[in-house]
Amino acid sequence: MMQTKVLNPATEQVLSTIELMDARQTDDVVRRSARAFEEWQRVDAADRAKLLRRFAAMVEADAENLAHMETANCGHPISNSHGTLRAVVDCMEYYAAAPERMIGQQIPVPNGVALTFHEPIGVVAVIAPWNFPLMIAVWGMMPALAAGNTVILKPSELTPLTTVRLAELALEAGLPRDVVQVVVGEGAVVGQALLDHPLVDKVVFTGSTDVGRKVMSSAAANLKKVTLELGGKSANIVYADSDLAAAAAAAPMGVFFNTGQDCCARSRLLVQSSILNEFVEYLVPAVNDIIVGSPLDEKTQVGPLISAGHRERVASFVTEDEQIVTQGQIPDGPGFWFPPTVLRSDDGSAPSVSQEIFGPVVTITPFADEADAIRLANSTDYGLAGSIWTRDIARAMRTARGVRAGNLSVNNNSAVRYQTPFGGFKQSGIGRELGPDAPFEFTEKKTVFISTT
Ligand code: NAD
Repeated sequence: MMQTKVLNPATEQVLSTIELMDARQTDDVVRRSARAFEEWQRVDAADRAKLLRRFAAMVEADAENLAHMETANCGHPISNSHGTLRAVVDCMEYYAAAPERMIGQQIPVPNGVALTFHEPIGVVAVIAPWNFPLMIAVWGMMPALAAGNTVILKPSELTPLTTVRLAELALEAGLPRDVVQVVVGEGAVVGQALLDHPLVDKVVFTGSTDVGRKVMSSAAANLKKVTLELGGKSANIVYADSDLAAAAAAAPMGVFFNTGQDCCARSRLLVQSSILNEFVEYLVPAVNDIIVGSPLDEKTQVGPLISAGHRERVASFVTEDEQIVTQGQIPDGPGFWFPPTVLRSDDGSAPSVSQEIFGPVVTITPFADEADAIRLANSTDYGLAGSIWTRDIARAMRTARGVRAGNLSVNNNSAVRYQTPFGGFKQSGIGRELGPDAPFEFTEKKTVFISTT
């Protein structure tokens, strides 16, 4: 059996050695999931809700352990991991309330009664990336379970630890065996086996756009349903009439949060030309003040990148041709560190402006007017998120409607809330997660007609 070493990216130390599953074992997991579905779909909605509330409570009770695991395996600053766990528990509680709210319709028809039901789809595979392993697993898993599906979680081979723990907690909470399972292994092996398996009914994939394309074409073989949450290259638009100090103070963590390994990172700063110099004067000290260091230090804001290979990829975008505005500090010694970096890019053709770097690198590009800002914001293949800074509410609305992206924030850089739908336009994805409708994405609508004649 193949094994892999799970590393701490801040120290390069081995956290554990885990066994990688193969396609045959994945097949076994899928078959067990399909069998468990037969029972789980018949569990009364009120009982399913009770079990999911208990599951949320188990995760809450284990939050400190899970936060430390996530920090050790992903390099997330511990204060962020505590925030993650709060968000995870909130999201679990929110969807634990869903089973009893899967309400159908009664539709007027002649000669009888027509009713609609939201039936679970079956076996759902949730394939997740390494940047927010626990959070992304929960976003897919909870609405799927609430709607009566069984779930197979496939974490990234780099960051499996909290996902494995999550499945243990599901069992401890009393969910029937095999309702939540984990397959740990390489994407091309176990991930592909899930995609190819005829008993997997839906795939929720979060990851790169390139692998997303493979997911979609594999799913076509037996017409699996797919949700794709892919890459981003989101714009942060700063107009001359904005609160400049606030926009500049927020911009660094709008992109450097999670070391830039965030699909919603505002990695392109678009700044109105008339205030560009003033904005940069505010921005540079804010970037240089970011605390990059040990993830276990409560004061740390930015940790390491996930791996040596990823650091190499990020570094490849910061070439000699680039104009570096400023670069922050990183610690000495082991760890996959990369400094927060601001690049000036007046023409949009450099790879740093058009491609997703997924690291702590932001480009600044000036724009002339509103139309120019919207044109630049829309000039990539992605469309996931974006920010608009202005004091003019009409301009904010026009720009928000003009930018072709799924999640826009005005005078703020946030993107994801479990209460609201989340997903991308263009090559950032297909379908939406989260929000009140998410459980319905894991159902088939059924119409039943009862004759009254
Ligand atoms: P990735 O695409 O390399 O891997 C994602 C997952 O897919 C992993 O679990 C991997 O093992 C698996 N996988 C790889 N090949 C596969 C195959 N042939 N069949 C099935 N599964 C396969 O992505 P990554 O490097 O782990 O994560 C970074 C990417 O994720 C970035 O592009 C980022 O933008 C994106 N992302 C998107 C969102 C979103 O919600 N839109 C959120 C987080 C990350």
